[in-house]
Amino acid sequence: EDVINRIAAGEVIQRPANAVKEMLENCLDAGSTNVSIILQEGGLKYLQIQDNGSGIPKEDMDIVCERFTTSKLKKFEDLTNISTYGFRGEALASISHVAHITIVSKTSDSLCAFKGTYSDGKLKESLKPCAGNVGTQIIVEDLFYNVPTRRLILKNATEEYQKIVDVVTRYAIHNPNVGFLVKKQNETNPDLKTQSGSSRLDNIALLFGSSIAKEILSFEHEDKKLSFKLAGCATNANYSSKKRAFILFINHRSVESTDLRKAVESVYNAYLPKGSYPFVYISLEISPQNIDVNVHPTKSEVHFMYESEIFDCVQRQLDSCLLGSNT
Ligand code: ADP
Ligand code: MG
Repeated sequence: EDVINRIAAGEVIQRPANAVKEMLENCLDAGSTNVSIILQEGGLKYLQIQDNGSGIPKEDMDIVCERFTTSKLKKFEDLTNISTYGFRGEALASISHVAHITIVSKTSDSLCAFKGTYSDGKLKESLKPCAGNVGTQIIVEDLFYNVPTRRLILKNATEEYQKIVDVVTRYAIHNPNVGFLVKKQNETNPDLKTQSGSSRLDNIALLFGSSIAKEILSFEHEDKKLSFKLAGCATNANYSSKKRAFILFINHRSVESTDLRKAVESVYNAYLPKGSYPFVYISLEISPQNIDVNVHPTKSEVHFMYESEIFDCVQRQLDSCLLGSNT
């Protein structure tokens, strides 16, 4: 059974950056305004994520790493919405099957924090009361210790570290109200640091450079008939850095859409020389019923109804915003 769980877990969590994304989303779901991440060996050896969110109630601490444990269903209005993100209550469980987890968490109505250690979905010994602030700290150690084939593939700690910084960068652009920090355990200076309560433009300047931020153009559009909302910003500065700058959020989750990326690039082709990479950030809110529920959890690639209408809308918004800037 453990072997099957481990294989299933390996499908959901393929590298440290997947674990970070899942845990980061949990921090945000818990209403955190500060999230800090400390890593050793690109998260393969040690990955600590600390937030100042609502914390986990003691009675939930026993079961948080069990499959399908989620405190979030009550937030959803109907059953269709539950399938929005393809899977629920599987992230911590999956991580616990391929790593050792320690959680320290305190809610505002508890007098102290509680600490638990977990493996293979289960709490290993009874919870221990300890000191701590309101919020949650999760430490993931020796990721893939029991999956030698995976460890062999992920040899490059620098690359894994960079992928984590990229994930946090995207979330920092989408959530300027939240302060993020990423650093290596043995370094004093963080590699990424944003302040809670910043503006999106502040964070674009900080993370992508002030020259990009200076030329940023924003757009917003709501389609009542197809019930989607589109917001974003873009620049037509000739941005030729290697840093990926197509940031897409659907319903506040960072996702990939090759088709939408291509649609965006085709607009840019009219404005930019080949080989230059513009900065584009798009946030799309769609009614959950319109998202493809067959999406596999590991693939952040999504599909949704009215794709061509929505892509057209994105193209029109970009086009008019870039055209406007040229005149
Ligand atoms: P899901 O997010 O789909 O509910 P997860 O496995 O990611 O499933 O998390 C399981 C549960 O653990 C969450 O529903 C939440 O109750 C709790 N949890 C996890 N991380 C945090 C956190 N940082 N702050 C508060 N609660 C958390
Ligand atoms: Mg989650």
